Amino acid sequence: MWQVVGHQWTVKLLERSLANGRTAHAYLLLGLPQVGKTTLALNFAQALNCLDEEKPCGQCRSCLKIAHGNHPDVRVIEAVNGTIKIDQIRAMQREVALSPHEGRWKVYIIRQMERATTEAANCLLKTLEEPPAQVILILTASDMDQLLPTIISRCQVLNLRPPSMLLVQKALEERWEIDPERARLLARLSGGRLGWAVRASEDEAILRKRERRLGEMIELVGQRRVERLRYAQHLSKSPDGLRELLDLWLSWWRDLLLIKGDSSTEVTNVDREATLRSQARGYSLIQVWDFIEALRTAVWQLEHNANTRLTLEVLMLSLPSP
Ligand SMILES: [Zn+2]
Repeated sequence: MWQVVGHQWTVKLLERSLANGRTAHAYLLLGLPQVGKTTLALNFAQALNCLDEEKPCGQCRSCLKIAHGNHPDVRVIEAVNGTIKIDQIRAMQREVALSPHEGRWKVYIIRQMERATTEAANCLLKTLEEPPAQVILILTASDMDQLLPTIISRCQVLNLRPPSMLLVQKALEERWEIDPERARLLARLSGGRLGWAVRASEDEAILRKRERRLGEMIELVGQRRVERLRYAQHLSKSPDGLRELLDLWLSWWRDLLLIKGDSSTEVTNVDREATLRSQARGYSLIQVWDFIEALRTAVWQLEHNANTRLTLEVLMLSLPSP
């Protein structure tokens, strides 16, 4: 049985290709971070090498080895210190030339392909152009724009849309035995990224950080120019967590928009609904809308290598006061 939550369309497609013996040499799984791309890839690797009738059974020697990360024919390649380097791809190429040890298929899962250096990506192209027999490559990425078009064109591209929040909530309750109230909050905050929800359920620090960040934002609303600029400077020193922070702010301001617009859609930050409602009273619809635009612009600029500090300063100054 496939262990993925949601992604039914993709699972059906992969099952069909297995049944017909028409698997592709290379797949590219696209989707938001922690939406389940690697889980799906590992499940597919299990299905390819499963020793049982109903593939993947999850119980046979092969399935268990893959689940434990010690199957000799299934490898996961991922960034080391932020990048996938050419040496990692070369090492893989030396291995793919050999036939499988015990499985029917050698499966190489390359996570976060956008982190590959240009040299590594070009090197991988050789394998994609002349795929060895009995080898399947599965690349994952969250942003297609950052991949070489020549790589994309040689893969079967599968888009993984986030499963519904209800599905995530149900999975959290049933499979991870999380109580319903907490499961609902995590499902909402995850935006359908089950991997994130599971991690947040296991690591208290994730939700605590969200609390802290929201507190800072709410405080900043009442502060003057000098404090806002100081906060922008402070944030610009740790650019790694910026996208996450801006996504959090976006979720908050979208919630304000939903409330201002009397929408029947449930807010994301369900545990803070009272704060949202009281804050919403201080703003006009236009103010909320404009700030969402400012946030989107900042996200775009940071993704396109704008000056981090300057972008954040502009953003902080455009944060409307009630
Ligand atoms: Zn099996």
